[in-house]
Amino acid sequence: MIPALMEETLVLLKPDCLEGRKCGEVLKRFEEAGFDVFAVKMMRLSDEILREHYSHLADKPFFPEIQGFMQSSPVVAIAMRGENAITRVRDMVGPTDSTIADKGTIRGDFGQDKMRNVVHASDSVENGQAELKRFFAEGELQD
Ligand code: ADP
Repeated sequence: MIPALMEETLVLLKPDCLEGRKCGEVLKRFEEAGFDVFAVKMMRLSDEILREHYSHLADKPFFPEIQGFMQSSPVVAIAMRGENAITRVRDMVGPTDSTIADKGTIRGDFGQDKMRNVVHASDSVENGQAELKRFFAEGELQD
């Protein structure tokens, strides 16, 4: 049998998740799916961290709107690991646009639109590692 791949991912609970009081529900889904949390913190996102995190969207006309949204309250950053975490977590989250996300996915159940879509989740193993380093200091990540 091919051994399953242990992967690490960064999840952000966005301001709409906090406002809708869905943090517990979202985390419960991930824990029940078998993922282990190895760091968590609430933080306000600086211009700098947001520009880095969303550098692929920096020249889009809606970037200032995303920035305003992501800075409208603190977010909760969660470091998680588990088998095939990147794909499995993204599948549980659903597509960017909440209005087309299937019911049963996090965005389909709790998201409002393309921007207010409840959570961020890393889209590759490499980005997962880079994002964990971006949001957590080395000493904050448990083995
Ligand atoms: P994902 O978060 O699904 O990986 P992207 O990396 O494409 O998607 O976009 C990052 C975030 O920017 C999205 O989660 C969403 O909050 C916001 N966003 C993306 N596209 C749009 C859009 N067309 N209009 C408004 N906000 C958007």
